[in-house]
Amino acid sequence: MPETRAQLFGRLVEMVGKGRMKSIEPGDGWPSVAEIKVDSGLVPCSVFVGPIGLSHRNRDHLERRFQNPVVSGLPPGEPAGRAIVPRAGTQPLLLGVWEEGKREVLVAAEAQRRTGFTTRYSVFAPLTLLTRAESEGWAEQTNSDGESLVAFWPELLPVFVEAVGAGVKLQPEEMDGLLQASGAEAGGAIGPIERARRAASQLVRRKAFGREVCGAYGHQCALCGFNFSLVVGAHIYPASAPSSPDEVTNGLALCNNHHAAFDAHLIHIDPEARSVKLHPLLVASAAKNEASQSFVDITFNTLRDPLNGLHRPKREMFSQRYDFYPTKYDWAG
Ligand SMILES: [Zn+2]
Repeated sequence: MPETRAQLFGRLVEMVGKGRMKSIEPGDGWPSVAEIKVDSGLVPCSVFVGPIGLSHRNRDHLERRFQNPVVSGLPPGEPAGRAIVPRAGTQPLLLGVWEEGKREVLVAAEAQRRTGFTTRYSVFAPLTLLTRAESEGWAEQTNSDGESLVAFWPELLPVFVEAVGAGVKLQPEEMDGLLQASGAEAGGAIGPIERARRAASQLVRRKAFGREVCGAYGHQCALCGFNFSLVVGAHIYPASAPSSPDEVTNGLALCNNHHAAFDAHLIHIDPEARSVKLHPLLVASAAKNEASQSFVDITFNTLRDPLNGLHRPKREMFSQRYDFYPTKYDWAG
């Protein structure tokens, strides 16, 4: 008897790890409902899962595939594939499980893009993607249908769920860096993988923060109005400080120059009046350098507000910043 999708789902929960994934409603694997544990809480997911096998189009040396289940017993001409219909309030996950290698690999396809399809379809996964994920932990590739596929060790499923939920893209190089820095190895201990997962979770939150802050200011620098997609979201009470919130009210959209100057404590913003003061040395240098002078000239006297008043930085974020760097703002008086 071949394994059913419900049984595959049961094994998937084991692969991901019971502390990270919990079966809520086993169903039949199309979907099964599970809760995935991420740092910020539990994410209910509708899991559409299939085994990855040969691709059966004379390309088995290059690729593998998984499919949606077939609807049996229909007259000819009727839709033949079961659609992706996520349960209300859940995040849909379309996952293939690859077990030919030394280590299992999950492949996540774009569930949203296929939601509602009632034909039988195949998701093709290049072998290079699977083997790279097997040895390195995380890989991404666009397949021949132009669909982005992310492949990873099962223990990293919460990272994928968190990134998709936050609408953030994790670059494979970033994940590589985190996995290597944590010492995670294929077939190695769970401790390092867990460390990499936590670091990735932090990265997801940072990226989501940057995107929200930039959006809140219409992608314009709050200190000069510059845009051209070179604006970043900066923390006021710094990210390195204890319990610094990744919230838009602790952020400023800044161009690279103002960001660097803000980080270097050359810009002081009054928590109440929002008036902007530049370091005297910076102002003095402007007398001798035209470019410095133009930097001084373009800097607003008062911090610009975000588009929506609710996103205005909280004044305590500024005061906590100044307390965190007790000597750095003596010049501001
Ligand atoms: Zn600027």
